[in-house]
Order: sequence, then C-alpha cells, then structure tokens
Amino acid sequence: MDDLAISELLSRLGFEGEGAEKALVRLCRDGLTRPGKTRIATVKIETAERALRAAFVRHCRKSACLPSPRETREPLPVSAVHCETCGGSDNRRAVEQMLVAMQRAGWTKLLVAGGSPGTRRELQRLCADRLDLRFVTDETTPNRKTVAPLLNWSEVAAIWTSTEISHKTTAVLRGPKVLKVSRRSVVALAEAVQERCAIVA
Ligand SMILES: [Zn+2]
Repeated sequence: MDDLAISELLSRLGFEGEGAEKALVRLCRDGLTRPGKTRIATVKIETAERALRAAFVRHCRKSACLPSPRETREPLPVSAVHCETCGGSDNRRAVEQMLVAMQRAGWTKLLVAGGSPGTRRELQRLCADRLDLRFVTDETTPNRKTVAPLLNWSEVAAIWTSTEISHKTTAVLRGPKVLKVSRRSVVALAEAVQERCAIVA
C-alpha cells in the first residue's frame, strides 16, 4: 500500500516542531493515526489534511495575517509560505482581505478598469471563482453603450488610473461606486476596494 511519512505530510502544510506535535495529537484524536506510527496511507492524506485545516489556522507573523478575534480554530504560527492569508505573497494577503471585506459588505461584483494584462491575470487568479470579476481593458469599446452596463452591473468599480485607459471610458466611469487607484499594484487596488467595503459594512 502506498504511504507517506507523517513528518513529510506535516511539513508540507507548515507544521514544524511544536506545531507538528500538536498536529499529531489532533490526527490521533481523529483516528487518522496512532502514537508510534510514522507513516500514513496515501488514501488517508486528503482526510488528514482536511482535519488539520479544520483544527488550526496557520498564520505568519505579519500583523495583517494574525487570526481575527472571530476565528474559532486554534492559531498556529507557521512560515509565511504556509500562511493561509498571504502564502508569502503580499498580493494574496491583500486580495484575501478584500474578499473578506466584500463578503462582509454583501458584495460579489467587482469591475476593474485599466491595469496591465499581468496585473489583471494575477487579480483573476487570486480571486479564482470567489468573486464575480469583470474588466474594462483597452480592448473594450470605449463608449457609453459598452461601459455603462458594466458599471451598472457592478457593486464597486475600481480604476487603475496610472495605466493606459481611454478618456471616453473614464468619462462613463463616474459616481459613488467608482474608486480611483493611483498606484498600479494589485495590493493598491485590493486595499482601496477593502476600504470602500469597510465604509458600507
Ligand atoms: Zn501571512
């Protein structure tokens, strides 16, 4: 039967030292292993990972990644690459926080205008399918007929103003939903949206 060293399973998730001991206690309690066993069957790995994710919130030491007071799982400090919030990436941390803020505000529809193909791709990747995300790019026909319905559809709209974007487009993108983001990073956009959500939530 295929199996894996339990230490390997734990270190893949960032459980080291004392954290690994706590994780082992949890796996024993859940009947997924028992004291003295060093390997775990491959078929059990997914269940074990799920049990550990459900029991612990793995966070790095950045203040933005510390678990919220509402968190019910046991906090466990790990290296940044295993942090559930940032995974070692500032973009991911900022987008995760934006997603939480949007959820709290009851919003799911974000329109983004401008940005480079690279930053748009990164934003899309980080949001995955947890957000309804649409873009106005330089390929969008810059007129009211095309842009106004997108703005109407959105609950919040952010313009990356430092990137190439037609004047005709920005002329349509006006009103209380619209945010202007002057820095061209994913972090800047995510933080601006998050701030806007905090106002309504
Ligand atoms: Zn982190």
